[in-house]
Amino acid sequence: MSPKKYLYTPGPTPVPPAVLAALGEPVVHHRSPDFRPVYERCLMRLREVCRTREDVLLFGASGTGAFESAVANLVSPGEPQLVVSAGNFGERWAALTAAYGADVDHLRYAWGETPDAEDVRARLRERPAKAAWVVHSETSTGVVADVQAIAAAAKESGALVVVDAVSSLGAVPCETDAWGLDVVVSGSQKALMTPPGLGLCAVSPAAYAATGSSPRFYFDWERTRKAQASFDAAFTPPVSLVVALDVALGLLLEEGLEAAFDRHIRLGRAARAGAKAMGLELFSPDEDRSAVVTAVRAPEGVDAGDVVKALRDRFGMTIAGGQGELRGKIFRLGHIGWFDVFDITTMLAAVELVLAELGADIERGIAVTAALEAYEHSRVA
Ligand code: PLP
Repeated sequence: MSPKKYLYTPGPTPVPPAVLAALGEPVVHHRSPDFRPVYERCLMRLREVCRTREDVLLFGASGTGAFESAVANLVSPGEPQLVVSAGNFGERWAALTAAYGADVDHLRYAWGETPDAEDVRARLRERPAKAAWVVHSETSTGVVADVQAIAAAAKESGALVVVDAVSSLGAVPCETDAWGLDVVVSGSQKALMTPPGLGLCAVSPAAYAATGSSPRFYFDWERTRKAQASFDAAFTPPVSLVVALDVALGLLLEEGLEAAFDRHIRLGRAARAGAKAMGLELFSPDEDRSAVVTAVRAPEGVDAGDVVKALRDRFGMTIAGGQGELRGKIFRLGHIGWFDVFDITTMLAAVELVLAELGADIERGIAVTAALEAYEHSRVA
């Protein structure tokens, strides 16, 4: 028997069978009646998931590609931009905006800290910027920021708000229109339960009106927006991925966004309860908003990289290690998208076995029960 594989990272994530089946359908032509209705439905469903009345632009690209579209369209060389970072992805956006010649004001927190709306307000008062670039769910640390409050603070100074919702969209609330988010960027391979390869960008009228002078072609928002208006893609889209994403979004909307948010809160509670029951220390905050990925400190004397490696070698299980300065110090248990509580108990049981084998002093045999209890007895009001 070929060994079973478990994908427990915060992206890519497991893909439901109906989505996989859609990927296996014959390839259709993107300018034919076989594709257009699917494209139209997929784009409309994306609006629902992003909670916006505006167009959601879809690109054949990873999340970083979609984010680069925001940079290429909004940044002009020399213009001030405020980038808020508290981990790997925020730092990536500081580097990317700088690469386009922005005059970057980098509001930089230590990895694992939670960005604060008051800091953003004060910083923009002192030094106004065209846009504030913010990460909603910082996947490298497990921190989910209060983007609603940060957006409200940024708006006071007239800045546009650009949000990296790559690992949050579909897992935790992201109210594009209601919170006044000008650009929301995401990707297919996280809570949207589809393989990697599609990047998306919800764009407000104010953001379209503020486009800058950086050179762009494939990622030009206006070109894609015009083409999407008649459901005629600007370039050949990855048709099979679009067909699959449409099915995945249908599943998500059938569950209901609120129900999905509720499930993610409970999955997060279960993961944290299990880790704590073992006696492990959480790195990500012990709070409901932290519902995307649970980051756990490796116990004394254990390298987190060895935990990741042992899980893969022994059980065919892939979790995420620490990135950058957190390499070797933390491991991360992803729980976005097609996850239920038994995924959490499976990963906890395997982590427990592996930690014991690596000689860690942990409490054995109670993590699974603690996780189940936290999941079942914590229905969100
Ligand atoms: N932003 C966040 C918060 C992410 O988690 C990721 C992917 O891990 C990215 C951006 C980058 O997305 P991609 O790898 O699809 O380019």
